[in-house]
Amino acid sequence: MIIDTHCHLDSSKFDEDLEEVLQRAYDSGVRGFILPGADPKDLPKAQKIAHEHDNMYFAAGVHPYHAREYDETYLKEFLSDPKCIAVGECGMDYFRLPEDEGEKAEEKAVQQEVFAKHIRLANRHGMPLIIHIREANDISKQIMLENDAKDAVLHCYNASPHLLDLSKRNCYFGIGGVATFKNAKKLVEILPEIPLEKLLLETDAPYLTPHPYRGKRNEPAYTTYVLEKIAQTRHMETEVLEKQILDNTKTLFKAFATLDSV
Ligand SMILES: [Zn+2]
Repeated sequence: MIIDTHCHLDSSKFDEDLEEVLQRAYDSGVRGFILPGADPKDLPKAQKIAHEHDNMYFAAGVHPYHAREYDETYLKEFLSDPKCIAVGECGMDYFRLPEDEGEKAEEKAVQQEVFAKHIRLANRHGMPLIIHIREANDISKQIMLENDAKDAVLHCYNASPHLLDLSKRNCYFGIGGVATFKNAKKLVEILPEIPLEKLLLETDAPYLTPHPYRGKRNEPAYTTYVLEKIAQTRHMETEVLEKQILDNTKTLFKAFATLDSV
């Protein structure tokens, strides 16, 4: 049994055929789903879909690309919902910064402040964080330490060795389709160094589709390709790894703790 800990099933890319997507996930052994927040205006949709399905939950947060739209009062409305089980996705992304030096500095400052706010919000609600980090490793880690980030998953772990020791601070590492890419040498090399009890599976659907479907829409059923790839790099039996990752998921996201293999 697999839980896709990061899938944007509220994306309009699933409007036409969500039930078929879920059926294929089910047929592949995927039995649980977490829909992370990204654009604040999509949260009501993620919430609605989560309520319409068993073993499906959502997270409330603001993706760094939307950092300026952070509104704590608005987020808190969602955090009080039992179907909301995490704060995120939130974090830092320096990949797409403005050219202008002044604007660049301002954008960085906004992201830093908003990331810190997310961490403190999660701490106050006793919830795990779903964290997105791209080209901002050092500063992200610094903010996590300064604000005493507790349980968290580094979603789409970017293979930075610098972030690896966060595992000691109860940080988990979300592994998705990128691990199957031919040019993912760095990630494949570092995969065996992630503590086994800190590995999680995710798709980031509809994005980052694993080989052999790269270029097409991603969906939770494809987590199996990622699972197999991780098993290969760690020289493990797929079934043993699958059981371990399920245990890890249940430890971080307690809503799944009673989910039995069916
Ligand atoms: Zn995502």
